Amino acid sequence: MNKFAAMFTRHFYRRVMTLLCLLGYSAMLFASLPARDARAEAITVISDDNYPPYLFKDANGNTVGIVADFWKLWEQKTGVKVTLVSTAWEQAQQQLLSGHADVIEMIFRDAEREQRYTFTKAYATLPVGIYAHESLSGLASPEVLSGFTVGVQKGDGCIFKLKEAGVKSFRLYNNYEEIIQATLSGQVKIVCMDDYPAHYYLYRMNADSQILRAFTLYQGQFHRAVRKGDVRTLRLLERGAAAISPAEMTALESKWKGSSLQRGVYSKQVILTLALLLVVGLTLLLLIFMLRVAVKRKTAEIESKREELELERLRLTNIIDATRAGTWEWDVQTGMFQFNERWAEILGYTLEELVPHNLETAKRLTHPDDWQTSMTLVARHLQGEIEFYECDIRMQHKAGHWIWIVDRGRLISRTPAGEPAMMRGTHIDITDKKQAEAAIWRQANYDSLTQLPNRHYFHHQIKEAIAAAATRQQRLSLLLLDLDRFKEVNDSLGHRRGDELLMEVGQRIRQCVSLPATVARLGGDEFAIIVPEGLHADLQGLGNQLMQEISKAYILGGERVFVTVSIGISQYPEDALHAEEIIQHADQAMYDAKSRGRNSLRFFSLAIREALSQRVNLARDLRMALDNGELRDYYQPIVSLHNGKIVKAEALMRWQHPERGLISPALFIPVAEETGDIIAMGDWIFHRAAQHAMQWQPLMGDDFAISVNKSPVQFVEQLNVQSDWVHALRAMGVEGKRIVVEITEGLLLNPDPVVEERLLQFRDMGIQVAIDDFGTGYSSLSYLSKFDIDYLKIDQSFTRNLNAGNESYVLCEAIIVMAHKLGLKVIAEGVETALQRDLLMDIHCDYAQGFFYSPPVPADAFEQMLVQQSREAAIAR
Ligand code: C2E
Ligand code: MG
Ligand code: MG
Repeated sequence: MNKFAAMFTRHFYRRVMTLLCLLGYSAMLFASLPARDARAEAITVISDDNYPPYLFKDANGNTVGIVADFWKLWEQKTGVKVTLVSTAWEQAQQQLLSGHADVIEMIFRDAEREQRYTFTKAYATLPVGIYAHESLSGLASPEVLSGFTVGVQKGDGCIFKLKEAGVKSFRLYNNYEEIIQATLSGQVKIVCMDDYPAHYYLYRMNADSQILRAFTLYQGQFHRAVRKGDVRTLRLLERGAAAISPAEMTALESKWKGSSLQRGVYSKQVILTLALLLVVGLTLLLLIFMLRVAVKRKTAEIESKREELELERLRLTNIIDATRAGTWEWDVQTGMFQFNERWAEILGYTLEELVPHNLETAKRLTHPDDWQTSMTLVARHLQGEIEFYECDIRMQHKAGHWIWIVDRGRLISRTPAGEPAMMRGTHIDITDKKQAEAAIWRQANYDSLTQLPNRHYFHHQIKEAIAAAATRQQRLSLLLLDLDRFKEVNDSLGHRRGDELLMEVGQRIRQCVSLPATVARLGGDEFAIIVPEGLHADLQGLGNQLMQEISKAYILGGERVFVTVSIGISQYPEDALHAEEIIQHADQAMYDAKSRGRNSLRFFSLAIREALSQRVNLARDLRMALDNGELRDYYQPIVSLHNGKIVKAEALMRWQHPERGLISPALFIPVAEETGDIIAMGDWIFHRAAQHAMQWQPLMGDDFAISVNKSPVQFVEQLNVQSDWVHALRAMGVEGKRIVVEITEGLLLNPDPVVEERLLQFRDMGIQVAIDDFGTGYSSLSYLSKFDIDYLKIDQSFTRNLNAGNESYVLCEAIIVMAHKLGLKVIAEGVETALQRDLLMDIHCDYAQGFFYSPPVPADAFEQMLVQQSREAAIAR
């Protein structure tokens, strides 16, 4: 609010107060209007005339105002003539006291005046103020006035009050206009004036902006007074006042309120200003109120936000704690790191031990293989290529071992120039996870028995190796190894021993091979070696070494066990370009090695592929052989070594192929076993042999029997056929003892109850059982006493090598002694020379079979031999 507005507010307030006082006084006057007093014909009323609106001079110099009108009315009511004299205030008092006037108007009452005057009741209360020139400030209470000179109207009641307040120096003036003039001219700075006339004159003299009201000195009250003791005049006065009604007094007041043009305009402006100020004030109050409400609400909001943020911060800290994450902050510009305790704890340090931490110390703690990867990713992130930085790194624990950490981070600020400023991120210890992953990976890719890569990983490796070889334009070799007759070891010694053997084989292979060749176990007894160019230039040499090492004795559960291996080799890019093909070709080569008597090595060749395709063709043709009548039954005599006579025969199958001629069973029997055709073919030769046995028996005597070979497949796959053989013999009327069933050791290694039952059926029927190719297996021989076996047929590999006193000789002799002890007869196969025959006789072998006596021959040729023999016998008799 500006100064002018403040002035107006103050002036208006004072005028309102004055008017209120006047109203009160008028009411009193009318109430006490007396009856007309005939004794007093005239009175003189005196006062000063510079006290508007009570008494003052109007523009024409007439004395007017409330007091003037009051006395006119009083005059009417009382009929007493009133002479209203207005003069300077001091003179007015003197005139009264000197008896030139009867009544003094508008006088304040104080102790000093009580001595000289008798007062009526107060009819108006009027504040008296201290006013000061605008250049003087700091006046707030009467106490500060002592020491100042104060300008006053001569004879003014305020002099008494000022003296009480300690004012000693006064300047006296005749009226308020003089006082104001003196103040404006700087004669005096502090003045004392009744508020109402003061405001009137200040306003009229345009001085209200230079002379300002300081404070209220006291509240003065207007009285009328007479000389002390003039009771008669006092009574007259009061009676006349009482005769004036309140309505008349109000009308009088209203007149002076409304008649003054200057005051009216002034009030209107003040009212308007006040209204404006009120509106402005109320608006301001409202604004302040709204502002305070808004501030309060905002404060509450900020407080709740702050609490929320604190909770959020706590929540995030809890989450980070729960994740067991270390947190870091990297000042890209300075290179310095900061981190939390957990960060250091992961590495086994305390926070203090790792401070200060910069790129150099970070590098020292990080695995050299991971540092570069990590830095490359950080650089890419800083360049904006990748949104986040994330890298699995190894860091060294205080104890020395490596910890796997997933390191994640993000750039969170840049310098004003756009340079990376600050990166923040986390460290999480994933060592356990990595170890578990490695274990799972190992489980999926490595063979738990030999700790070598498994088939799955091998396939992956060979593809990689081929790709690498292709890039470098190099060769690559694949060796496939398959143990020979491993199944027999497994069956005879149990799976535990079999596993031990495989582990040992794996180790031996690894020892033969240099890194970075890959050695894998493909499953069962199959191994593979991937050899890149530059390693093992002499593959044949490597193969031989492998065969030699693998064929050395294994000590399994205290027993010496032997096993051999067949190896197939194929090469990139000569043999094939793709992994699957290379594997297939190595497999074919290995198969070829097997079919060539095992314990050998074969390089893949077109010939092998050719042989294989022939084998496929063979299988196809074989399917038709029986129906087309292409099978033949040949018979080879078995001779008694006691007398050199044919006593038995072995039925051996032949295939008269329409294009390829006579095919050996060594070629087609394995194929028939694979295809299952052996069942029908076996039944066919059995029938033929049984018929011939019955047919030739009269020529031979009661011991005559024909051996029929029976593959394990024939037992396992069609068990009911066994009983058919028994039934078939019965149906044909052939005695059981005319037939010897030749089986291999392998069949008896697996104590299958069904096989046992079939063998029992044979025995019940009188069918005899021979163990074919005896000595080539690895059995414990315990089955010999367990089952009802009649003959052992010593494998021709022993017979072939037989020489007096040599290993084969000793072995054969041992077999014969043992067999005889068990009540078995022994037949030696493959006897080709007289020496072999003689040596066998020396060691008491029972029977011999071989080219020395006769190769297998067709039935009619064999029959001729029998006829011939019986003839000779008849002659000999
Ligand atoms: P095996 O049962 O051991 O038959 C003896 C093999 O030795 C026969 O070969 C025979 O010709 C051959 N042999 C006999 N004496 C001599 C000799 O002094 N020197 C040499 N080097 N060899 C001799 P073959 O007939 O080629 O039969 C081979 C194998 O095929 C048989 O071996 C047998 O395991 C199997 N086989 C033959 N016919 C049948 C059959 O009808 N059914 C079954 N399941 N297998 C059969
Ligand atoms: Mg045989
Ligand atoms: Mg044999």
